[in-house]
Amino acid sequence: MISKFLELVRRCSGNLVALTGAGISADSGIPTFRGKDGLWNKYRPEELATPQAFAKNPRLVWEWYAWRMEKVFSARPNPAHLALAIMERKGLLKAVITQNVDNLHERAGSRNVIHLHGRIDEMRCLGCDRIVRVAKPPKAIPPVCECGEMMRPNVVWFGEALPERELELAMSLCEENSVLVIGTSAVVYPAAYLPHHAKRNGNMVIEINPDVTPVTDIADLSVRERAGKFFEPLLPILEEEGFP
Ligand SMILES: [Zn+2]
Repeated sequence: MISKFLELVRRCSGNLVALTGAGISADSGIPTFRGKDGLWNKYRPEELATPQAFAKNPRLVWEWYAWRMEKVFSARPNPAHLALAIMERKGLLKAVITQNVDNLHERAGSRNVIHLHGRIDEMRCLGCDRIVRVAKPPKAIPPVCECGEMMRPNVVWFGEALPERELELAMSLCEENSVLVIGTSAVVYPAAYLPHHAKRNGNMVIEINPDVTPVTDIADLSVRERAGKFFEPLLPILEEEGFP
């Protein structure tokens, strides 16, 4: 599987992007969105991650996000994040398109990261639209902007549209490049459409996922493995001087 994977990556000769989802960050210990343990068990994400929930009880929603921020900030990138950063540095990968709101790609060293669902390490002002990036959860909850208005997490909530610029960029990248789909079940549209878009435009699709997904059928290579586990032995190969 490793040699086949490397062969396909070489064949892309740099015309490759990654599409990542919850599975890649689960290997860093970040609970998936629908995680079943803990404090917040009695709430469903659909009850907290909506504009309506925030309007009704901003304090509750912010407490949940502060808790999730804490999880993200204490997690560390795993070999899959690191491998993508090395591949970008070596000119083998153009960009990472992610459905994740964590910052593990950036912390692994990836530079060109497109966040389709926003970033949990950013807050956005409801009044002046100012975006503030943070390294720890806000102390005062809910946080207030310099302009006096309340800040909200800069993430896409249920019922909200994806950021237009990011989505357009992702679409055009998948038109011109092969796609490495990692840890996403690819069932949530419009992100689910991206691998198909790549395929229809004559590009390759490579999948790394422990489960069969709707992408598996169209994949040129589909590896049934957890992302972190698959990429671990690849790190020294990718790092090797002279590779590819
Ligand atoms: Zn403001």
